[in-house]
Amino acid sequence: SENNEILKINNIEVRYHEVILVLKGVSIKIPEGGIVALLGANGAGKSTTLKAISGLLNHEDGEVTDGSIEFMGERIHKLPAEEISRRGIFQIIEGRRVFEHLTVEENLMVGGHLRPSGLKERLDMVYHYFPRLKERRNIMAGFVSGGEQQMCVIGRAMMAQPKLMLLDEPSMGLAPLLIKEIFEIIQRLNREEKIPILLVEQNVKLALTVAPHAYVMENGRIVMDDTSEKLKENPDIRDFYLGLT
Ligand code: ATP
Repeated sequence: SENNEILKINNIEVRYHEVILVLKGVSIKIPEGGIVALLGANGAGKSTTLKAISGLLNHEDGEVTDGSIEFMGERIHKLPAEEISRRGIFQIIEGRRVFEHLTVEENLMVGGHLRPSGLKERLDMVYHYFPRLKERRNIMAGFVSGGEQQMCVIGRAMMAQPKLMLLDEPSMGLAPLLIKEIFEIIQRLNREEKIPILLVEQNVKLALTVAPHAYVMENGRIVMDDTSEKLKENPDIRDFYLGLT
């Protein structure tokens, strides 16, 4: 019920450059400690939804022009991105943006600057989930593999003790084995560290396996909202997204 939701998006409209209406009334709820998937074709508005939450929208001349976003009971949709991340929301943007000329460990430490106390413990926690990053800690991040860079970006967010993580296409461009490894870690971070996650993912089969609940977007609107169990049985989902019919 009401109190169990960490994030509530209430019927938001989003425009770019004051005119182009991209989100036309989107409502999404994320329960405390939950993983929710947001699915939909290219251009449906998934990234825009994540940017509306994190405030990064403002950096692209976009704006929430109607509705509201509530995080831990407070309205955040008019706050600057820096304030939203200070409150604990971190968006892992599409594509892997590491600081290429810093080592893996230095990249992680950058994520820790928001919460300077207990940095060593958090670094150990990140290395516990990502043993590969520990092995590669002294290597320039620009020289590690794509999968390791993705781990580095997620680890960097973990260093800031996130209260909500927004993941945009974490599987993009990665080999199947690495995708499996990264998603297992994402699930463990959710289960063991109790971090709520909103996941945008083109790989619908994978998303419906990881997230117990999903929303489907088309053309700036939510057109389906159900348990992943039910969505896997839905003929439109099977046909259009899973290619099973
Ligand atoms: P994809 O997986 O391709 O990123 P998406 O579902 O995440 O798709 P968005 O990136 O949110 O979709 O884009 C939704 C719509 O908003 C698209 O029509 C896109 O062209 C438009 N759009 C996105 N960013 C901007 C921007 N900065 N200025 C103007 N229009 C934009």
